[in-house]
This record gives sequence, structure tokens and C-alpha cells, in this order.
Amino acid sequence: MPEAPSKEYPVVIAGAGWAGLATAVELSTHGIPVLLLEAARQLGGRARSIRSGDMIVDNGQHLMIGAYRSLLTLMERVRVDPKKAFLRLPLTLNMRRGSRISLYFRTPRLPPPLHLLWAILTAHGLGFNDRVQALRFGRKLPTLEIPASGDISVQALLHSEAQSPALIRKLWEPLCVATLNMHTGDASARLFLQVLRETFLDLCRHSDLLIPRSELSAVLPRPCADYLERKGARVEMGQRVTGLQVVNDTVRGVKLHGRDIAASHVVLATPHLISRRLMSHHAPLHTVCEQLAGLGNEPIATLYLQYPPRTRLPTPVVGLENTLSQWVFDRRVCGQPGMMAVVISARGEHTGMTADAVTARVAGELRRAFPGWPAHRHSLLVREKRATFSARPGIDCIRPDNATALHGLWLAGDYTATGLPATLEGAVRSGIRCANAILEQVR
Ligand SMILES: Cc1cc2nc3c(=O)[nH]c(=O)nc-3n(C[C@H](O)[C@H](O)[C@H](O)COP(=O)(O)OP(=O)(O)OC[C@H]3O[C@@H](n4cnc5c(N)ncnc54)[C@H](O)[C@@H]3O)c2cc1C
Repeated sequence: MPEAPSKEYPVVIAGAGWAGLATAVELSTHGIPVLLLEAARQLGGRARSIRSGDMIVDNGQHLMIGAYRSLLTLMERVRVDPKKAFLRLPLTLNMRRGSRISLYFRTPRLPPPLHLLWAILTAHGLGFNDRVQALRFGRKLPTLEIPASGDISVQALLHSEAQSPALIRKLWEPLCVATLNMHTGDASARLFLQVLRETFLDLCRHSDLLIPRSELSAVLPRPCADYLERKGARVEMGQRVTGLQVVNDTVRGVKLHGRDIAASHVVLATPHLISRRLMSHHAPLHTVCEQLAGLGNEPIATLYLQYPPRTRLPTPVVGLENTLSQWVFDRRVCGQPGMMAVVISARGEHTGMTADAVTARVAGELRRAFPGWPAHRHSLLVREKRATFSARPGIDCIRPDNATALHGLWLAGDYTATGLPATLEGAVRSGIRCANAILEQVR
């Protein structure tokens, strides 16, 4: 027999990643009681903290930017002060090739587009022609539009905008891999342009780097859970949704192992493959299931290396060129002196290497980049095989809306049609939009 909490909790949300949490907070703020069910024993989904021995690290080093408006608003709503939660820096690209600086680019506090203009003109490591081409491209940014159905690769876009191979290698390829988790040859130009526009065209502070000062779970998931408790919402951990209750093309609740829960609205804030599995038995949802099947997944690996505490980077983040290692983060920022998080985004040679081989290779690359460093003491490699959906050309054609073909069934997650790549901002924006769509119906 189904339990009958529908009066108590008319909305059930499956999945307490950042999208599910954002949906729950938004609905609770507007007085709608929600029940949030999370399969894992921990909140946060793909952006959570993990324990390894005495160490608490994240399941992957995350970086936010000042353009994450929905995320920053959500933080304020749940009473997290972004000034305390993040180290905020003007956008700084400190790239090295071996121990030499190959590119240094920093945006000053000037109104846009002057900040970008100044950063390009004063960048160390770019030739005269590269600067002119980068500026020309920057000038065209506000008007460059690529329709979803006519999408091309970032590489094709950069070639058509006469960006030189050196400029692509030093600037665009690292930015593309960092933001879209795909190499320029594979990534969607439409999504890349959207990221560049949101980062550079509006306010100068939108391009700031926001580096978490604490483990990820403390940045948002735990404050959200505290807020939800204060608002009378219920969060249940270790509760895996296994199916949907559907009558006459209307969702009536969810199924769990040994338990059914009735609800007027169900939000699947689960990863797209799981949402697809949960929806696949219901004929009206076949089209959306086919869409989700096409989204794909791309990996991100993070190698944590613990050095003696005095070891530090010259800037909180350093990029490495022509190496397996892409970005090195100094975890001193979040109270872990001597700990370096080395991020390797997208597919590549490392995907087929053992953890020991990746560690040895990366440690060697860091030794060459920072010759004075002592040997590391411990290491931990975290590989997320399904870190993001594949941000390939044309992907926006198959990203679903929050609403589905079943009355009362909704989708929230970074993969929905936000116009952004798989990011925390995309997840939160999707959750808030989903909540607002439900609020419209409830009212
Ligand atoms: C290693 C790594 C590095 C990243 N770096 C960045 C970065 O620097 N900047 C950035 O902006 N983004 C980054 N991202 C992307 C970002 O983490 C994701 O876009 C975001 O966390 C997705 O949130 P979500 O809520 O949509 O999905 P998820 O986080 O996947 O949440 C889904 C939730 O559903 C739960 N669940 C699954 N099945 C069930 C079920 N049957 N019943 C109930 N619950 C269920 C899961 O346990 C999970 O908690 C990174 C991701 C990874 C993995």
C-alpha cells in the first residue's frame, strides 16, 4: 500500500545533487513542502566531499566563476556568505611549459570589454598577431550566434575566426577543456560561445575565479539541508527511487524498495542515465528517453598529491601545457597546505593508464614544472567516468526541458536545456527553473 504523504509533501524530489537541492530550496522558500530522497549516504552528487583515511577531499576539484549568478543567489538564500565561502580572484591564467611561463593573462578591475582588452594587450606569451586575432574574436563575441541545428566544433569556429595554432594551443584549448570537458575538435562551438559571453560580456566580476575555501559539501549541500530542515522539508538519505507510479499519463508518486510514496509532483534530479532508466517503462516518455540516451558522458580525473606543508604554488591555480596534468590547484586555499589537486579533464591517454602510472607521470611533470619541490608523501586518484554529458556539436538539439510528457513529472539536472555546459551553475539554474515551473502549476 502506498504511504499517503501527498498532503504533507506534495512534491517528491529524487536526487540531492546541486540541482535537486536547488529545486527543494526554491520550493520550500515559497511554502511548498518537499520530500527529498537521496540514494547515497551523502548529499551533493557529483560535487561532494569524500573521506580517504584522515583526509577529506572532493570527488573532484571544482572551480566556480563570478558569472554563476543562480548559484551565488542560492548560497545567499541558504545563508552562506560567498565572500567567506570562496577565494575570489580576477581571472588569471598562469600557464607553464616545463618550468617556463608560456602564458600569463590577468583581467584588471575595469568595465567590460576593457578588462578583456587590457588582459589580451598585456598578456605575456602572445605574439602581436595573436593579440590582434584574439581581440577581433572578442569584438565579435556579442553578435556571433550559432543555431543548435547548425552547430560546429570549437576548432572549426576558431579556424573560421583566424585564430592561430599558437593561440589555440595556449589559450583556447585549455579554456575549452576546462569549461566544456572536451577538446576543441570535439566540443560544441555554441556552448563555448555561451560560456565566453556569460563570462566576459556583462560585468567585470563575472570573469572572477571563485575557489572554494572548504570541502565542497560545506559550500552548499550541508547549508541547503539545514535550510530545508528549518523550512519543514524532509531530506532522507539512503533512499533509492526505483520507479514511478503513473495512472492515466499522470504521475502519482514514486516507488522505492519495499515502499511507495504518493505525490502530486515528482522531480527526477538524478543523473540523466538514471532518469532515463526510471522513465523507460512509460510510453509517453519514449521520446525524452531517446534524447537522454544520446547525451553521452565524459570523464574527469583528479589526482591529490600531499607534499610537505611548506610546498606552495606561485598562484592558487597553475595550468600546465603539453602534459597529462592540465590544472594544478593549491589546496592551501581550503586549509590543506601542501596538498595539490591536479585536474585532468576529458578523455585522453590517461583514461587507459593505471592509477600508479598516472601518479608517477603527474608527479614527474610537477617536479619539472617546480624544480625545488620535495617528493610527495601520499596520493589519491579520483576518477569520475561520468563527470559531464558530452558537450559535442548539436547537443543542444536533444537536451530536454524541465517539463515532461507526463503531467506532474519534471526533470532537473545539468543536462537539461540550460544553454550551459555541465556545470554547477547549470545544475542550480535547472533546479530553480524546474521549481518555478512547478510553482506556476501549483498556483
Ligand atoms: C570531477 C568533477 C569535476 C567537476 N568540475 C566542475 C567545475 O570545476 N565547475 C563546475 O561548475 N562544474 C564541475 N563539474 C560538474 C558538476 O559537478 C555537475 O555539473 C553537477 O554537480 C551536476 O549536478 P546535478 O544535481 O545535475 O547531478 P548529480 O550531482 O549527479 O546529482 C544526482 C543525484 O541523484 C542521486 N541519485 C542517483 N540515483 C538515484 C535514485 N535512484 N534515487 C535517488 N537519488 C538518486 C545521486 O546520488 C546524486 O546525488 C565537475 C564534475 C565532476 C564529476
